[in-house]
Amino acid sequence: MLSRFKPTWMIENIYSISPQFLLEHKINCVLTDLDNTLVPWNSKVGSDELRAWLASIKKYGIQVIVVSNNSHHRIQAAVKDYELPFVPRAMKPLSIGIRHAIKEFHLNKKNTVMVGDQLMTDVVSANSCGVRSILVKPLVRTDAWNTTINRYFEKIVWNKLIKKYPDLHWK
Ligand SMILES: [Mg+2]
Repeated sequence: MLSRFKPTWMIENIYSISPQFLLEHKINCVLTDLDNTLVPWNSKVGSDELRAWLASIKKYGIQVIVVSNNSHHRIQAAVKDYELPFVPRAMKPLSIGIRHAIKEFHLNKKNTVMVGDQLMTDVVSANSCGVRSILVKPLVRTDAWNTTINRYFEKIVWNKLIKKYPDLHWK
C-alpha cells in the first residue's frame, strides 16, 4: 500500500536533474508537473534557470512535456515562452494525464519519468501506471489552497515512507 507513494528517486529540484542522469537510466522523455516543480505556483512566467535547464536537456534529444492538473489557460501562460507541449487537467493522482501523454506523443513508458513535488498526486499517478518518478522539493514554500490539504496527508505518508524505506534519500 505504502509502495504506491514511493518515488523512484528524490532530487532537490528539477534544475538539478542532469541529462547524464537521465541518459544513464535510459530516459528520453521527462513528464513534469507545473506548479512548484517547473515554476513557482504563483508565478506567471519561468526563469533563466528554467530556460538553461531546458536547453541542456533538449540538447541531448530528451523531450519535456508538462502534465499538470491545472487548466489549459494557466499552463499556456506559464510555458508559452518555452515551446513546451502539455497535457492540462491531468487528474493526478489518477494516471489519465500520463497515459494521455504516452499515447499522444508516442512514448515508451520504460523510457519516461514523471517529475513532481507531490507524493499524493505526481508520484502516485506515475506508480499507478508503471512509470518511474522523481520527487523534487517544491520551488516555493507556499502552496495553492488545494495543495495545502494534500500536504497535510503527505506529511503523514512521508513519515511512514521514510521509516519503511530508510534507503530513500535526497540526491
Ligand atoms: Mg506541483
